[in-house]
Amino acid sequence: MYNFAYMKSPNFLKNYTIAELRDYVRGMGEQAFRADQLFDAMYAQGIEHIHDIATLPKALRETLEQETVMSAVRLQKIQESNDGTKKFLFELFDGRAIETVLIPSEMVTDDGSPKRMTLCVSTQVGCPLNCQFCATASLKLKRNLFVAEIVDQLLAAQRYTEKKITNLVFMGMGEPMLNYDNVMAAVSIFTHGDTPLLGSKRITLSTAGVVPGIVRMADEKSPIKLAISLHATTNGLRKEIMPIARKYELTELGNAIEYYYRKTRRAVTYEYILFEGINDSEADAKRLARFTRRVPSKVNVIPFHDIEFTNPTGIAAELKPTSREKFKGFISLLQSHDVTVMIRSSSGVDIDAACGQLAFSNASTETTTPLLSEVL
Ligand code: SAH
Repeated sequence: MYNFAYMKSPNFLKNYTIAELRDYVRGMGEQAFRADQLFDAMYAQGIEHIHDIATLPKALRETLEQETVMSAVRLQKIQESNDGTKKFLFELFDGRAIETVLIPSEMVTDDGSPKRMTLCVSTQVGCPLNCQFCATASLKLKRNLFVAEIVDQLLAAQRYTEKKITNLVFMGMGEPMLNYDNVMAAVSIFTHGDTPLLGSKRITLSTAGVVPGIVRMADEKSPIKLAISLHATTNGLRKEIMPIARKYELTELGNAIEYYYRKTRRAVTYEYILFEGINDSEADAKRLARFTRRVPSKVNVIPFHDIEFTNPTGIAAELKPTSREKFKGFISLLQSHDVTVMIRSSSGVDIDAACGQLAFSNASTETTTPLLSEVL
């Protein structure tokens, strides 16, 4: 269904999981523990250049420098919101670009610093799913990200952030289930070792409802958390605003989620954007409660973020955020039906960094430094 031009990755060091890196160094006639030293240098110590990895013999460093590429993203721009949210624009080796968003939690610790620092990571350049409310859809799919391009979003963002990034969500550009292998390889890198970059319980994958991906996470007993972008409780509406629903209807989606729960015993999160007069009625709340109560879950109710800058047409142009009053009423209704509800904040909305706004609206493509594609 989703064909895009096959593109080969440069030999990025961060494409390799630990097992693959051990094989790679063995192939170079080295012992496998060199891979572990390399992993430690890159991920635990955050060393950016191969020649600075003192634990590796000089000859190996030289070969690695010739054969491989250490950095897969190049920072082009950071925008900072009034609420502390930061949006990073990264350039990729082929000149394409992605955005990554860092969101400090509103909750603070005793010393006044944010309790959580959540990084919202992209998995594709653009997205093929064409959800009518999402700005990324306007880009269409350019390509999948390579493992290193996913991993480096975290490492690069961390470099520009004093506080440690504590949580990661695959909720940036793209549909993670359509780049499943690379996303899960990145997860295995993030969670590897005694001092992992992140624990698996602090990583969440959000899907628009790609059923085979949900089933695969269940079968593999994937240790990360699962979120489902639901946004509609009838097939009619869901098909209209999320074309992927034409392929996987609500019954099939619900069954896959139940299967996932039976296999993993992990609660799921539902995401539900409220659109004025479209999916915010009492009947919607009842159906939403019925659907989500099938397995232990919580519902994240999300205010609709403006995507006017993409010049929406058709149903997309009719979507408006639900009024404050109705928003509150909808939440109370869900609660009265025993649904655990969270309200997703609109962090970063002033810099178009909130959910669904990633499409380079404000992003300048001017650079003062040479492009990554020019220096490789
Ligand atoms: N493709 C994945 C992950 C990316 S979207 C998915 O669909 O889940 C991340 C979240 O932002 C999803 O819940 C998505 O539905 C939501 N979102 C998209 N556009 C939005 C908008 N304009 N306003 C608010 N949330 C939006």
